[in-house]
This record gives sequence, structure tokens and C-alpha cells, in this order.
Amino acid sequence: MKSIQKKCRKLTQPFRVTDGKEFRLKKIDPDDTLWLKREDKSRVAEALEEGIQALAEFQDRLYADNRWALLLIFQAMDAAGKDSAIKHVMSGVNPQGCQVMSFKAPSAEELDHDYLWRCFQHLPNRGHIGIFNRSYYEETLVVRVHPELLERQRLPAELVTRRIWDERFQDIRSFERYLTRNGIVVRKFFLHVSKEEQKRRFLERIEKPEKNWKFSSTDVQERGFWREYMAAYEEMIRHTATPEAPWYVVPADHKWFTRAVVAAAVIETLASLELAYPEVDKDKRKELVAAKQALLEE
Ligand code: ATP
Ligand code: MG
Repeated sequence: MKSIQKKCRKLTQPFRVTDGKEFRLKKIDPDDTLWLKREDKSRVAEALEEGIQALAEFQDRLYADNRWALLLIFQAMDAAGKDSAIKHVMSGVNPQGCQVMSFKAPSAEELDHDYLWRCFQHLPNRGHIGIFNRSYYEETLVVRVHPELLERQRLPAELVTRRIWDERFQDIRSFERYLTRNGIVVRKFFLHVSKEEQKRRFLERIEKPEKNWKFSSTDVQERGFWREYMAAYEEMIRHTATPEAPWYVVPADHKWFTRAVVAAAVIETLASLELAYPEVDKDKRKELVAAKQALLEE
């Protein structure tokens, strides 16, 4: 167990942010693959398969132990590979113990409530892994880049001041501390893709018929706000990376590498919980012995 944690740490350490004060987005290169080369791609894929097996075992214990829950949050620009990272990394887990929620623009009903309201309803049960594909962090990203979205929230005017983003960061930190104190472990991933790679992926979506459905021209419009988004992401990470709920800023220009880092982070987190199968007490053991005898005597 310790060795798997060590291996995972080598992959995740450079990208884990637990204290955002010194964080600068430009320190992480979206093209980075650490010591791994493109030629290693298939070897990494094999290791990932092993990792996925390990993850499945950990999930089984998480489920049996039934005390902790794990909340994984994914944020990224379009085409950074959120969907594919989620799909690959969770491919081995038992669907019974896992739930994915994709957060879109809020509905009229959702806009009638505070912004965390809709998230509360999708927090993972104990023993489960919950995945947020986008999350309440959009409240400091898309809503910050497009102030008209904030207007739609109908907040009382006196509450909308220059301090609103700092206040949101503060509330989110408190919310995540609250989750942590309730046994919901929070890990956050920003898949950091470059503007050039995004363009390449958009073009592929246009050119390949089987990918056409993924293309949306609003994604191209959002690309026009790249600088604003990067500034918002940097601010968000600086203010919400904490030891109990760290951000992983994962290079995302190479999907095979992104998946490996995300899998490593999830395995490392589950391994750190030292999950054990529940031990049976004396009475339960007696019951098992009696049942065995009854079955054998049938
Ligand atoms: P994909 O494009 O790969 O299917 P996606 O996560 O981009 O995945 P979309 O339906 O394209 O899914 O986009 C969801 C949209 O909802 C995003 O543009 C996002 O910014 C927006 N959104 C999510 N949460 C909020 C929010 N709280 N307020 C406003 N917009 C939001
Ligand atoms: Mg999209």
C-alpha cells in the first residue's frame, strides 16, 4: 500500500496546491508530462490499467467501511478532457458506489435559491464517490467573466459589491471545511489545457463526423475570453486551495498524462484514508459459524 502511495505521489506532487498564496498559473505548463515521454504512452496506459484495478479495490473498501465519502470536482475550459478523464479513471469502479453530476447553467428554479442549494442535493452518500463535472466554482468563473449572469441571480443590490468574489471564496472555503468535518473528503482538479491545444481539439470536433455532436459555437465564443478565464482560474485557486481540500492543476495537453495524474490523485487520497473492511464482533462470528453448520447439515 505504501509503495502505491509513493508512486502516485511522484506524479501528483508537482501539481498539488494546498496553499494558494504563492500560486501562479504560468508555473504549470499544459504541455508538461514530467519524466514521461510520448514513447512511454502505452506503458503509462498499462500502469493506468493497474491503477484502475487498485482504485476499484479501494472503492470496494470505501463502500464496505461506509463512513467516508469522496467528492471529486472537475473544472476546466471546454475540450480540456473532463469527460474523458472521468470516464477512464472511473471505468473500473462499481457504479453502485459512484455518482456523477454535471452542472449546467442554473435553471429558473435553481436561480430562486442560493448557489450552493443545487450542489447540496448531489453530495455523495457515505461510502460513495461523487463526481462534480463543473460545480459551484462556476460561480467564481463563468459568472465572474460574464457579469450579466450575476444579475440573473437577483441578489439584493447592497450585497453585490467589489468584495463579492472574495466573499464567495471565503464561503466556499468554509463549505469545504464543513464537508471535510463531516467525513466528505474533497479533491479538486483543474485540467489545464493550452489555447492552441483547445483550437486543435475544436477543429477535430468539426472535421470528424463522429465528434460533430460535441461541437458548440458558444464554446468558440468563450475562447474569446481566454485571458479573463485564466485570471479567474488563478484567483480561484489562490483563494481556495487548502490542505484539507487541495487543487490539482493538471497539465491537459496530453490526455494520457492527464488521466494518469487524476487516477494517481484519487488512489493516493483513498489510500490515505486507511480503509478497512469492517471487523465482525464475537456475536457475529458465532452467527457465521452457526449458519455454516446449518448449511452443511442441510
Ligand atoms: P461538454 O461541452 O464537454 O459537454 P460542458 O461541461 O462544457 O461539457 P455544457 O453543457 O457545454 O457542458 O456547458 C455547461 C455550461 O454551463 C458551461 O458553459 C458552464 O459555464 C455553464 N454553467 C455551469 N454552472 C454555471 C453557473 N453556476 N452559472 C452559470 N453558468 C454555469
Ligand atoms: Mg461545453
